[in-house]
Amino acid sequence: MKKIQPKVGIIGGGLAGVYTAYLLAQHNITFEIIEAKPIFGGRICGEDTHSSDYKVDLGPSWIFPHQQEIQKLVSNLGLRLVEQFTSGDAVFQRNAKERPQKVGGVPPPSMYRIFGGTTRLITSLAQDIHEQNTKLSTKANSFQYDGQNWHVEIETNNSLCGLQRNEKSTDIHEDLSTSTVSFEHLVIAAPPRVIARKLSLRQTNGLKLKHQGEQGAARIDSDDQSTQMPEIDAKSVDTFLEALSNKFEQTPTWMAAQAKFAVTYKTPFWREHGLSGQAFSHVGPLGEVHDASFEDHDGNSVYALFGFVGIPFAHRQQTSIEQMKDACLSQLNSLFGSKASEHLQTYYKDWGADPFIANSLDQKQPPMHPYINLVSDQAQLKQLKLYLAASEFSESEAGYMEGAIVAARRAVEKILLTVE
Ligand SMILES: Cc1cc2nc3c(=O)[nH]c(=O)nc-3n(C[C@H](O)[C@H](O)[C@H](O)COP(=O)(O)OP(=O)(O)OC[C@H]3O[C@@H](n4cnc5c(N)ncnc54)[C@H](O)[C@@H]3O)c2cc1C
Repeated sequence: MKKIQPKVGIIGGGLAGVYTAYLLAQHNITFEIIEAKPIFGGRICGEDTHSSDYKVDLGPSWIFPHQQEIQKLVSNLGLRLVEQFTSGDAVFQRNAKERPQKVGGVPPPSMYRIFGGTTRLITSLAQDIHEQNTKLSTKANSFQYDGQNWHVEIETNNSLCGLQRNEKSTDIHEDLSTSTVSFEHLVIAAPPRVIARKLSLRQTNGLKLKHQGEQGAARIDSDDQSTQMPEIDAKSVDTFLEALSNKFEQTPTWMAAQAKFAVTYKTPFWREHGLSGQAFSHVGPLGEVHDASFEDHDGNSVYALFGFVGIPFAHRQQTSIEQMKDACLSQLNSLFGSKASEHLQTYYKDWGADPFIANSLDQKQPPMHPYINLVSDQAQLKQLKLYLAASEFSESEAGYMEGAIVAARRAVEKILLTVE
């Protein structure tokens, strides 16, 4: 007898969602990804440079030596890792009254970057995902479980569908349509905090719900006793989803309130002065600066610096993007010299202002590593066919790209156990 393939809904098309889809496709399991933005990638975000080969990363750049799963994946996809450039002195500025100092002799931890930009990981993983398995520019507003299937209420912004990333979405009026899609299995591949309070139980007529009778005996309510729907204890499912939402809300999203600035140059002028491009500053607006160049022998090299903005989200909100970019450039000028003004392109991304990554708690709280204890929830998650794949749910390296790979792999392993 031909086995009926389950349909898996994947909420979120960042690294975890796209890797989940990639693995499911290898096992011929049907799926659909629902992604709020017009493109895949989530926190992995690369902007175009003057070279068509290289992008500037405004999300993650680094893979650490102990992060073996992502390194294996990068190599299996035929991508290349390069070491973060750190040769030369760093620059340190203690306070506004003192001139920045060169500091040498501090060996920085070795870190790797994906050659060409981190988005290459997403492009490679997503290249075989068919359009019919994809809903982009589509926000999932609620997830309701009816005892057998998950029903996801979605809102598609049709004016964003098919938009290229360099087109301005703000110029286009919103053309929204709503509908409901249903799945047997649901994978959450979006940060827990942005999904909290969206999960609930749908009490439909056909549902066999086990309630406690007056004498404490269980009884089953159902319009159609012949259906094959499993019995579920409505009260305990309700309580479980409520408790799960609370845990989601308490789990910070790694780097959610960060802002990143980047700038490209014709030449790596800092290297010519024996500097690594690293800088650490107590003055700001950038707290840390690093080299973000990609070099090749074909004349396509991109030389770049990037920095993490050290100003809290609430203060950043009072400054325009142009003011922020100007302040960053002027700081680079004082750290690395006047050649820092001879830039090609500047880039800025405030992740705290991205409603699909950060919520109001992330905006207010100091950065914290995520941790969510789901050990006691496994049996109920399995019963509900609900799988948690975003990086923050990972049992190891939570918050990092490695965590997204680990959590997505574990989610797919659990789905396979129920269908094989
Ligand atoms: C500035 C910055 C620097 C970082 N640096 C590093 C680094 O150097 N190394 C490292 O390992 N990690 C780093 N990280 C963390 C890394 O980016 C994440 O671990 C990883 O990208 C998480 O992938 P994910 O798929 O789990 O989640 P995400 O990338 O957050 O993807 C979630 C997706 O869900 C979508 N979504 C959310 N809500 C909905 C909804 N209601 N409906 C539909 N879709 C929805 C979002 O649009 C998003 O595309 C950094 C992050 C940032 C922001």
